[in-house]
Amino acid sequence: MDNSKKVFFPGSFDPFTLGHADLVERGLRLFDNIVVAVGYNEQKSGWIPVEERVRALQEFYAHEPRIEVISYTGLTVDAARRTACSCILRGVRSTKDYEYELDIADINHRLSGLETVVLFADPHLSSLSSSVVRELSHFGRDIREWLPANLNYRIERNK
Ligand code: ADP
Repeated sequence: MDNSKKVFFPGSFDPFTLGHADLVERGLRLFDNIVVAVGYNEQKSGWIPVEERVRALQEFYAHEPRIEVISYTGLTVDAARRTACSCILRGVRSTKDYEYELDIADINHRLSGLETVVLFADPHLSSLSSSVVRELSHFGRDIREWLPANLNYRIERNK
């Protein structure tokens, strides 16, 4: 029997920040495998095109056989089941995140029986969000310090 624990880490990752990378690193200490799953909405193109978000992450994690990077649309629990994950990983930075994550975890559990494992943000990274990074970029700031050093997005971003 395969007793390995595989966790589904869903997000928009638009872009993938140091906060997300920290969760993946800490998740690898708790689970055997992680599926980093870039969720997208067919109606919205996002800031970085979803194909590029996936490509850059696959390249970034190419050296780590325990990490798989995919994209998905539709319900998170369906994608988690398709990839044979036994639970979902999420992060909480604040009470605002907590309330949001609690609601989704509850719905996901009712829909599928899948548990959500929540990791609290590293206090040094708890004010970091993809939306803050997009905002800084919009105003011409260098955003490299907020993203993992070897993560390279090639494609032009949408404004
Ligand atoms: P979503 O659009 O699904 O909220 P995000 O890409 O914004 O996806 O985030 C994915 C997960 O990572 C969420 O659980 C979010 O709370 C968590 N997260 C985002 N930024 C950080 C951070 N700086 N530290 C810890 N967790 C974070």
